[in-house]
Parts: sequence; C-alpha cells; structure tokens
Amino acid sequence: MALFSISKRGRFALFLLVLVALAFVSVAMGISDMDSGSFASSFVAYLFLVWLLLRRDIRYMRTPSEVLWSQWEACAGSDDQQARLSRAASGELAIKEIDKKARYAVFVDGKRYRTTLSRCSCRDFKKRGVPCEHMYRLAGELDIIELPKLS
Ligand SMILES: [Zn+2]
Repeated sequence: MALFSISKRGRFALFLLVLVALAFVSVAMGISDMDSGSFASSFVAYLFLVWLLLRRDIRYMRTPSEVLWSQWEACAGSDDQQARLSRAASGELAIKEIDKKARYAVFVDGKRYRTTLSRCSCRDFKKRGVPCEHMYRLAGELDIIELPKLS
C-alpha cells in the first residue's frame, strides 16, 4: 500500500481503482446497463490511467537511495544548503508519519508536507528545486546522510 501513499497521484490512482472495482461489481450484478464489451474497453483505459499515475512512484520505489540522492550532490556545499541541513538537524521539524521502506515522510508545520528523497510538496522545494529541510531530515532518518550534531 506504500506505493499509493507516496504522492497525491498515488492516492488518486487508488481512488480510480476503487471506482473501477465498484463499476465491475455493478456490471457483474446487472445493476449497470453497460454491456460487458464496453466495460472491458473502459476497464483497460482505466488501468492504463492508473499505471500512468503510478509510473513515477514505481520508478522511485525501484531506485536505490544512493542513486536518488546522488542527483543533489552538485548543490550540497552551498551556504544556503548548509543552513537547511542545520534546520533539519535542529529537531524543530515535526514528523507526522515516516515509512522507511517506501522512503517517504509527512511533516506537519501548520501545513502538511509530503516528502521523498526526490521531491517535497513544500514551497521551498517547489520554488528552488533543491533539497529542503524536510528532504534532509528524511535522508538523515534513512541514514543516507549524517545530520550535523548541534550542541
Ligand atoms: Zn520540504
């Protein structure tokens, strides 16, 4: 089920699957007047849509952590990034949910942020496209990086 929790697209894909299952039941029980031929073709179309929605998350789950994190090596040294790293280590961030196997976390700070090793739903990441404090914290929790010890 972790696959469906990684992103909004994943949850939407799950919602579509439930709709398809309901449609299947109503066709099978004869409640729906849709004939089975047209159901079969829309069934295939729906499954294709679900696959499109999940494609990126499936790729994420199959890619090793080091490979995912290596895309950020180039920006790691800058002062801005060091500041984010310190904030990630400061313990101010509240993790609401973490799935270490699926490598995603949900942070709460007024808003909810959905974080993976390759993206985050917070404004900082959306604006700059480099790891935010949430992503550093997740990488720290997963032992991919070592968060600085703050005294
Ligand atoms: Zn973030």
